Amino acid sequence: MNTQPPAEVGMKVDEVDTPALLVDLDILEQNLQRMADELARTPVRLRAHAKTHKCPEVARRQIELGAIGLCCQKVSEAEAMVDGGIRDILISNEIVGPRKLERLARLAQRSRVMVCVDDPDQVNVLNQVMQDHQVHLQVLVEIEVGGTKCGVPPGQPAVDLARRIDVATHLDFTGLQSYFGAAQHLVDFSQRSAAVAKSQSLTRELIGTLAQHGLACPVVSGGGTGAYDLESASGVYTEIQAGSYVFMDHGYTNNLTADGKPCNQFQQSLFVYATVMSRPVPERAVVDAGWKAVGVDCGFPIVADRPDIEYFQGGDEHGKLRLHDPETQLRVGDKLRLVPGNCDPTVNLYDWYVLFRQRRVEAIWAITARGAVL
Ligand SMILES: *Cc1c(COP(=O)(O)O)cnc(C)c1O
Repeated sequence: MNTQPPAEVGMKVDEVDTPALLVDLDILEQNLQRMADELARTPVRLRAHAKTHKCPEVARRQIELGAIGLCCQKVSEAEAMVDGGIRDILISNEIVGPRKLERLARLAQRSRVMVCVDDPDQVNVLNQVMQDHQVHLQVLVEIEVGGTKCGVPPGQPAVDLARRIDVATHLDFTGLQSYFGAAQHLVDFSQRSAAVAKSQSLTRELIGTLAQHGLACPVVSGGGTGAYDLESASGVYTEIQAGSYVFMDHGYTNNLTADGKPCNQFQQSLFVYATVMSRPVPERAVVDAGWKAVGVDCGFPIVADRPDIEYFQGGDEHGKLRLHDPETQLRVGDKLRLVPGNCDPTVNLYDWYVLFRQRRVEAIWAITARGAVL
């Protein structure tokens, strides 16, 4: 862990050392409020995904604005949230292996914890570990509704699994996780809504079948930033797992509304701050932010407010910029804000958020679940 933050409260933004993760606090607050307001108009609650921010400071603000709890992807991520004061967590993932299950059991002794299952043998393993620790665990059956990742098919296999959980002595069948992440990234509105509608009808049908077997689903969890509006209107979910809305990556800002306009409910609030370390020739400059400072799995970052500059390539520690106009004003030591293509893996590279308002650093928050991959 790198213990020295790149800035101090009160400093001007352009004095912040780089590479650093900058957050525009006004925009972050607007995003948090907007999602709270949107979901307040529906019967659905927010269970915000912590994998995006990995920071209890953000989580606490989400809870203050009405979120019922958090989602985490990993047990260690959930531990960091519980350590930060969050007391209602869904691990929206399958957890496998004795060391992790022991940590999960210990966490369930400190907080409300739910977990997903998609395998009958894992139900027995999970039950045994919970019995050993004298704790009850709430379990959701994860169903596969188009994402082709984890999850049982939403027919008989899901019913069998739910029944198995229901009869296990130390597990409570609590409902379903139905998450179709790829649907959220369909840019075209009619394609996106058709994909969501299909996964919703599969989920709705299964809820009905389970009810016929006497298996109630008090929790139906799923959805995310790209399609939360469709998902919350469907009447299927009890809670929406949106994560990225707090920061927004430029991937999501490509999504279009029903009338073909860009979806703009949420704005980009997260930037990688970088310094020009070299301008060896007029048409190229190099910044100190390469793969170790900005995620590139969803494409290269965009340079904020500078359409004349293109981040086109890099290496571990270097980002190469193309300057289409060789007369471009850009000197060694100048600083630029990069907009990452995918926020989650970018956040995971940093120990600190530097939060600014009106060009001044207002707060520095520790990203306590950074690197929490276990
Ligand atoms: C990533 C993820 C989310 C959040 O999706 P966003 O697009 O970040 O809002 C929700 N649920 C699950 C299971 C996820 O993996």
